[in-house]
Amino acid sequence: MGKGFRINQSRGIKYLELLLPKKGICRGYFSTREGGISTNPYGSLNLGFHVGDDGDRVLTNRELFLRSVGVPPEMVVVPEQVHGSNIVNVCKTHGGKGVFQMNDAVRGADALITKEPGVVLAALYADCVPIYIVDLENKGIGLAHAGWRGTIQNIAGKMLNKMEVDFGTVGDDCIAYIGPSIGFCCYEVGSDTAQDFVSLFPYDDNIYKEKTKGKYYVNLKEANAKILVDSGIDSRRIFVCDLCTSCSEELFFSYRRDGGKTGRMAALLGLQ
Ligand SMILES: [Zn+2]
Repeated sequence: MGKGFRINQSRGIKYLELLLPKKGICRGYFSTREGGISTNPYGSLNLGFHVGDDGDRVLTNRELFLRSVGVPPEMVVVPEQVHGSNIVNVCKTHGGKGVFQMNDAVRGADALITKEPGVVLAALYADCVPIYIVDLENKGIGLAHAGWRGTIQNIAGKMLNKMEVDFGTVGDDCIAYIGPSIGFCCYEVGSDTAQDFVSLFPYDDNIYKEKTKGKYYVNLKEANAKILVDSGIDSRRIFVCDLCTSCSEELFFSYRRDGGKTGRMAALLGLQ
C-alpha cells in the first residue's frame, strides 16, 4: 500500500485513510468498491452518477460511504471533472454541490481547494490519479483529479500555485498524497501520448518505458510526484500509494481493465 495510507473498515465499508503527521488538522479518504448495493459492472460501491448505474443506488452508496467515514453529505463538494486543469476555491456555500445529483457539480473543475474547516472536497476516480495536498501551517487543502491530460496540463502544480495565491501556501509547509490509480505495470499508451511525457520529463525512465514498437507504459503517479517536487514539496513528504487500480480487482474499479464500463471510487479531503 505504501507509507501514508492504511486500510480501514467501518459499517461494512472498506476504505483507505490518509495518515497525517499531525492530528486535528484534516482527514482524507479513498473508497474501495466494497460494501455498496450496486450490481455488476458497478458492484458494489459505485459512487459515480455518470457511468450508467441506477441513480438511486449511487445515492445510497454515497450515503453509506459518507456515513462510514462520518462526513455529512451537505458539507461535501464535487467538481464536474472534464479532464482539464481548472481549480476552484470553494467554501461552505458550495456544500452539497454535485453530491445529490451531478448537474450542480462545480462546473469545469478538476480540482478544488478550500481553507474552510468542515468543507470536504471530493472527486471520482477509476484509474486517474487522486492528488491530495495539505498545507499544515496555513491550514489549506487541495484535491485534484489527474488523468494523462490533467498530468500533462500540470494540474498538480497549478493547484499548489493557486493555494499559494489564495492561501499564502508555500511548498515547504505541505504534505502530499497520491492515491490508488493505474500503475506503471498497466498504464499503456500510444506513441503520441508517450511523446507528451517524453517532452515534459526528458530521459526519465521512471516515468515512461517502451513496451513494444509504438506502445509505451507511462507512470502517472511518478509523473505527478515529480511535478509536486518541482513545485516545491519535499519528496520525503509525498506519499505515493503503490496499489494499482487495474491489478487490484477485489478493491477497485478500473476503467482500463473493465473496458470503460465500470464504477467510480471517491477521494475525500476535509479540514477539521
Ligand atoms: Zn497494474
